[in-house]
Amino acid sequence: MAIRKIYQVGDDTLRQVSKPVTEFDDKLSALMDDMIDTLIYADGAGLAAPQVGVLKRIFVATFDGGSTIVEAVNPVIVKAKGKRVAAEGCLSVPNIHDKVERPRHVVVHAYDRHGNPIELKGDGFAAACFCHEIDHLDGVLFTDKTVKK
Ligand SMILES: [Zn+2]
Repeated sequence: MAIRKIYQVGDDTLRQVSKPVTEFDDKLSALMDDMIDTLIYADGAGLAAPQVGVLKRIFVATFDGGSTIVEAVNPVIVKAKGKRVAAEGCLSVPNIHDKVERPRHVVVHAYDRHGNPIELKGDGFAAACFCHEIDHLDGVLFTDKTVKK
């Protein structure tokens, strides 16, 4: 396990579209352990693989002060309901917190690190977090979606 370097805005890596994971092997597990370590070390809510320079469709997130850790491989939003505007930040975009409109509720289909299908349900903050992280996998940053008011 190791802390990885978090790529910062301006780096072209953050603007690439990530590829789906096809091998659920020890290398994937090691990467996800590193992502969780890095997320906790950086005191963030979520971290997507491109943020550590790996263009694969993976994110990790932590809620409830670190007591809940969510990991998702090849995540897809299958249901989105409602609207909520709230301030967001990003470990790759230092010192900016701006308002973004996201669905209030989302359902995400994904896989765990072993390749088992999982379903994640997010409300409010968690919904925004899942959307924010999945955007990273498509090269989108929250600053692209800031609500101008
Ligand atoms: Zn982010």
